[in-house]
Amino acid sequence: MSLAQFPLDTRNEFIARHIGPRDADIRAMLEMLGFDSLTAMIARVVPASIKGTSVLDLPAGQGEAEALAAIKAIAGKNLLFKSHIGQGYYPCHTPSPILRNLLENPAWYTAYTPYQPEISQGRLEALLNFQTLVSDLSGLPVANASLLDEGTAAAEAMTFCKRLSKNKASNAFFASRHCHPQTLDVLRTRAEPLGIEVVIGDEREIGDASAYFGALLQYPAADGDIFDYRALVERFHAANALVAVAADLLALTLLTPPGEFGADVALGSAQRFGVPLGFGGPHAAYFATRDSFKRDMPGRLVGVSIDRHGQPALRLAMQTREQHIRREKATSNICTAQVLLANIASMYAVYHGPQGLTRIARRVHQLTAVLADGLAQLGVSVEQQHFFDTLTLATGEQTAELHGKARAQRINLREVDANRLGLSLDETTTQADVEALWAIFANGQALPDFAALAASVASRLPAALLRQSAILSHPVFNRYHSETELMRYLRKLADKDLALDRSMIPLGSCTMKLNAASEMIPVTWAEFGALHPFAPAEQSAGYQELTTELEAMLCQATGYDAVSLQPNAGSQGEYAGLLAIRAYHQSRGDDQRDICLIPQSAHGTNPATASMVGMRVVVTACDARGNVDIADLKAKAEEHKDRLAAIMITYPSTHGVFEEGIREICEIIHANGGQVYIDGANMNAMVGLCAPGQFGGDVSHLNLHKTFCIPHGGGGPGVGPIGVKAHLAPFLPGHAQMARKQGAVSAAPFGSASILPITWMYIRMMGGDGLRRATQLAILNANYIARRLEEHYPVLYSGADGLVAHECILDLRPLKETSGISVDDVAKRLIDYGFHAPTMSFPVPGTLMIEPTESESKEELDRFCDAMIRIREEIRAVESGELDRDDNPLKNAPHTAQELVGEWPHRYSRELAVYPTASLVDGKYWPPVGRVDNVYGDRNLVCACPSIEAYQDA
Ligand SMILES: *Cc1c(COP(=O)(O)O)cnc(C)c1O
Repeated sequence: MSLAQFPLDTRNEFIARHIGPRDADIRAMLEMLGFDSLTAMIARVVPASIKGTSVLDLPAGQGEAEALAAIKAIAGKNLLFKSHIGQGYYPCHTPSPILRNLLENPAWYTAYTPYQPEISQGRLEALLNFQTLVSDLSGLPVANASLLDEGTAAAEAMTFCKRLSKNKASNAFFASRHCHPQTLDVLRTRAEPLGIEVVIGDEREIGDASAYFGALLQYPAADGDIFDYRALVERFHAANALVAVAADLLALTLLTPPGEFGADVALGSAQRFGVPLGFGGPHAAYFATRDSFKRDMPGRLVGVSIDRHGQPALRLAMQTREQHIRREKATSNICTAQVLLANIASMYAVYHGPQGLTRIARRVHQLTAVLADGLAQLGVSVEQQHFFDTLTLATGEQTAELHGKARAQRINLREVDANRLGLSLDETTTQADVEALWAIFANGQALPDFAALAASVASRLPAALLRQSAILSHPVFNRYHSETELMRYLRKLADKDLALDRSMIPLGSCTMKLNAASEMIPVTWAEFGALHPFAPAEQSAGYQELTTELEAMLCQATGYDAVSLQPNAGSQGEYAGLLAIRAYHQSRGDDQRDICLIPQSAHGTNPATASMVGMRVVVTACDARGNVDIADLKAKAEEHKDRLAAIMITYPSTHGVFEEGIREICEIIHANGGQVYIDGANMNAMVGLCAPGQFGGDVSHLNLHKTFCIPHGGGGPGVGPIGVKAHLAPFLPGHAQMARKQGAVSAAPFGSASILPITWMYIRMMGGDGLRRATQLAILNANYIARRLEEHYPVLYSGADGLVAHECILDLRPLKETSGISVDDVAKRLIDYGFHAPTMSFPVPGTLMIEPTESESKEELDRFCDAMIRIREEIRAVESGELDRDDNPLKNAPHTAQELVGEWPHRYSRELAVYPTASLVDGKYWPPVGRVDNVYGDRNLVCACPSIEAYQDA
């Protein structure tokens, strides 16, 4: 048979791999909804006024193999020089079992933020380990479960000191000039809108301490010195100023921790605990403080509580500090943090243990001391008396030449200034590396004798600051040191959790779609992972190509003119976007514009962010159908027209509908002198159908960890780029390493650079048509669920034709009246059916918000709908009295395996409790704990690993 009759098959199979429903399913679903095509359905969902605003001029998608080859070629343009740049970023070894079983394992990276504690005990335990690690090393009792990077953690510390300092008269914050320069940049950006003056100076000459409400010091200092800050901290305290110390966690294994010399806050990066450099991120930052300050702590905090059976159980503690509850009065706007990276760091400590970590630190220090002694022999002047891993060399006129010599050997040193070079050693440094460094400075002299120097080298840590206290004595850091043990521990924790690798996670507003393996693979390539963020530009050509292309792709997807990839979460994108608006008004002499309108239904990050840029939040109403109340909005815009800065509005709305009035809303704001911020977290309903940059938005953030396939990681990492219209482009974030030097919002120029390949791959493989189809299917899947469930649970809001956008809200409030069953009970009962709960009580209390995404197949949607319908039947049984009002499977959900043994005290069967449908017998998910008591945990706050005795007592 001749093959010539068949045209060569060049189909791109990826689109159908990403999208769940098959063609026949799509036809059936459309039929149920009464449409004969996707186009016909979409025509009724997207309002005519904005339809067709999306151009999405992108080439056709490429298959997985082709796209991987293309990105491999791009990656190959990055040059991997040996990095001794330091400055907060250090090469390290990611232990292979952690790389394979955690970083590259969907059980860990596809999990959602652990708001549902019963299905999150594994990652909560890993985070509790992280908090314990940080607390132990920093010497401060309360540590959070990560912030975004060291720079923003320092900025959080600054506003934390402002809130808590008793020196209310001062608006000045002292920052040592020995802090990392990128930290100082972020501090300056964050301080300015709040009217805080950042005074950068030498900590040995602070003058009158009472001029300051707080101070930031670096330990060890950026140039390598280790200063004794004890007297200084006392001076600041005597003047009622608080002191934050940015400290290197590895150095703290050997040095007196900040908590022991009086610091009020310790913060920094956990990057060198096993997380690749990744051209600047993502990495976890840490933040620790005193117990008395815990209620003002930014970020998420894991705490120990008990479950329904009195057994210990973990959950997120003290959420009343956070933006989703406190809105503009929140301690911070942080939502997505760096959970996956915090977990890598915590497992690095679990694997190495206290002795292992100390050994690594001591070795780094020894090599640095040998290096310094050798350099001295070669006549090089080393500035530090005391140091840990970093030296500054007074190289005078030879600086540029030496720098060039190093580059020729593929070695990067740190350029301190015209007369000095800096260098840092790390876990990966070897004898050969030290000798290569000597060779750069040898200038024809014989190289020092490494063995002889190593045999005689003395510690260069200051004797008065040697660490006396023990670290990591908890069993968890002393048990899993063989690879077999660690592998099983990681597996055990992962098995406790429900992530996307088990079932759909139908979270409204969070878009838990497929994170395809081909998208993830490039992330752990050394060509992306091993680059220092401040490597010379000529070494990062691959990253430049990737980011330039990605920016162009995102402009296509949003209809904006320019994109900044710097913000490393949605909250940070909001911040960068509002800063751009503020700077734009100021550039026109409109300094007084400081009012931000925010509809009632907004995500908590919106008001929290507005207050961080010094704007005043004016809340506008929503009408009975969930739409922005345009009359109220218009009245408020006009009332404040002289001071109107912006509106922050989510589209499609947080109520899951494409509001007809969006163009009119944008026009009202513009007519009154304001700018329109469209929160792009719901972009999954728009890509390829309509474009915020074309229907009235001036700026939007995108959540690449929602719409564009970066996995949630159990609560981070994320990327929150912003798109802007041309008039705002001059006000996008800058960075010392970029053309625009000012206005950094993240420590690294491209924030979380090493996960950008995920989004690049997604867009490259889907192409314009694939992306548009994904949006159509996301909307179809949501409407299918809404239609299947509406006779069982009323759908709260819908558009003109009874259709929803990409998510829908089910109203459970009436059930509370008739049965006493709450939205919590339904959410927890879903766990017995093997599902993660939808979003609870946001944006409307007493409701569930469901977003299936395009990636879920019809089978999975049906399985979920069937579970919801069965649960409704259970509620009906409660209503009718067939099930007891208090002792029923909903109130007692979720059910653990353990409670099945022994006496069964309930008025319903064991079968109904754990196998409510026969199909669950195959592949049943067993929650490790019963329902968790939140109130108990907040009243008895424990946020580090409890002692074994405490566990036994509980
Ligand atoms: C997720 C979300 C945000 C915040 O994004 P993070 O990346 O979590 O900081 C803001 N607005 C809306 C509507 C969201 O859904």
